[in-house]
Amino acid sequence: MKQLLILSGKGGTGKTTVACAFIRLAKVRAYADCDIDAPNVHLTLAPTAAPSVETFYGMPKARIDPDRCTACGLCRERCRFAAIHSGERSCFVDPFACEGCGVCAFVCPAGAVSLEPDAAGELRLYAGETSAFSTAQLKMGGGTSGKLVTQVKRRLNEAAPKDIPLAILDGSPGIGCPVIASLSGASMALIVTEPSVSGVSDMERIVQAAASFQTPLCVCVNKADTNPVITKQIEQYCSERVLPFLGTIPFDPAAVRAVNRGLTVVDEDCPSGKAVREIYQKTIRLLGLDEPVNQNQHNGGQHV
Ligand code: SF4
Ligand code: SF4
Repeated sequence: MKQLLILSGKGGTGKTTVACAFIRLAKVRAYADCDIDAPNVHLTLAPTAAPSVETFYGMPKARIDPDRCTACGLCRERCRFAAIHSGERSCFVDPFACEGCGVCAFVCPAGAVSLEPDAAGELRLYAGETSAFSTAQLKMGGGTSGKLVTQVKRRLNEAAPKDIPLAILDGSPGIGCPVIASLSGASMALIVTEPSVSGVSDMERIVQAAASFQTPLCVCVNKADTNPVITKQIEQYCSERVLPFLGTIPFDPAAVRAVNRGLTVVDEDCPSGKAVREIYQKTIRLLGLDEPVNQNQHNGGQHV
């Protein structure tokens, strides 16, 4: 099963809009939302099956037993994350600052520190006999986001039907841990960028990050007509680095209306939908798959 990852480098470029349209066009039977800070694929491609929910535990959090603590302050001195503070009779831990490294427990002479499991998010898997959709939501302030993305992908791989050629993953925006975790094992990543200075800068950083994984990349530009000069620069950048440039998507109020109604852009007869279809066809060819990738013959086009 090949994995197509959709990335953006920054939020607001239309990455999820493109991902949802691709999932619809491919009638794909395995897909995941790796944007675990703000997952929203489910809003457009509403699963019909009840999810299997699993609590995600990130790094543990330190807890100080006030009855044992002698307030010597050693743990506070050694904590590299300034997560321990002095109270009236004992020290206490700020759970939002604690990274779970365990140094405080190691140095405490009174055995007052314990490391306790911390529920940092929730994994959801919508799996039917013929399809699977994996997603998750990180708790506010939750860490180890890369680990959570890895779990989302693991659950998708385990639940996906074995005979299908393609899974589509909506990646996280940005360049941090969740993106790195998304890139691992991807067959190809499509970067959806926008013609702005920050869009170009973030695209370049994604290209650098993907190079360390040797993930094949391709690029498209959303809202291209809002800045034709920078769009041309992006095309030039791709040409210089031999990155396939798959096309442009125009700014399109019809796309905004479609998304607001819970539809994908390819559900509407509109210029952006037409452009996304063309980019989709080129992407599928680049992946070496036959188009259309009709993987949903068993469930009549319904997802999960
Ligand atoms: S090292 Fe142990 S005894 Fe000392 S302040 Fe920290 S928790 Fe309390
Ligand atoms: S586990 Fe590490 S980060 Fe958390 S309070 Fe202890 S020393 Fe600080």
